[in-house]
Amino acid sequence: MIAQEDAALMRIYQEASWVTADSNGVIWALRRQDVTTERVSGVDLADRLLALSAAKGYSVYLLGAAPGVAEAARERMMIKYPGCNIIGAQHGHFPESENEFVAKQLAEIKPDILLVAMGIPRQEKFIDEARKHMQFGIAMGVGGTLDVMSGKVKRAPVIIQKLKIEWLWRTLLNPKKFSKAKTLPVFVRLVKQAEKKK
Ligand code: UDP
Repeated sequence: MIAQEDAALMRIYQEASWVTADSNGVIWALRRQDVTTERVSGVDLADRLLALSAAKGYSVYLLGAAPGVAEAARERMMIKYPGCNIIGAQHGHFPESENEFVAKQLAEIKPDILLVAMGIPRQEKFIDEARKHMQFGIAMGVGGTLDVMSGKVKRAPVIIQKLKIEWLWRTLLNPKKFSKAKTLPVFVRLVKQAEKKK
């Protein structure tokens, strides 16, 4: 929905090697077009990548969230996945004018996997800047994942996840997300309009 009004973000998504459906709304829209996919949440995918790091030794860098959170996430993940190779962690609350500086620092560090948790669209725009400087494996925008991994924010109970209302749970706990929830009926209308044009 943000990319509908942000051409730079739309270009970044179109150029991405992987775009996954981290929302039941997107899965609903795809099903209506006979595309079946499971939900692939940023937090689950990041968790799997950390397990892979422990198994294969891939180096991981955590960038994002408020000061102290990335470091706390690193500590908890090193306990959860012994041997997982998290080579650095840094908060994401630096001015956008420092994007290039931070990207160049990461280019020196050369992580195999860069997890960027700075929210949409800031994380995508940071990755777009970073890839000009870095020759690394993968970079992925993971939203609020470090907040969850650090224990600062609890994932919704499994029953809420199964009922597919995790978005409602997160919105009620964080009123800042109300503006996102308000776009839901607009999303439904746009999907139906696009179907009629076919
Ligand atoms: N954040 C950040 N830098 C910023 C703005 C936000 O690191 O300039 C972090 C914020 O602290 C939070 C995450 O980005 O940890 C955004 O989480 P959210 O759940 O809102 O992400 P989204 O809904 O976009 O996936």
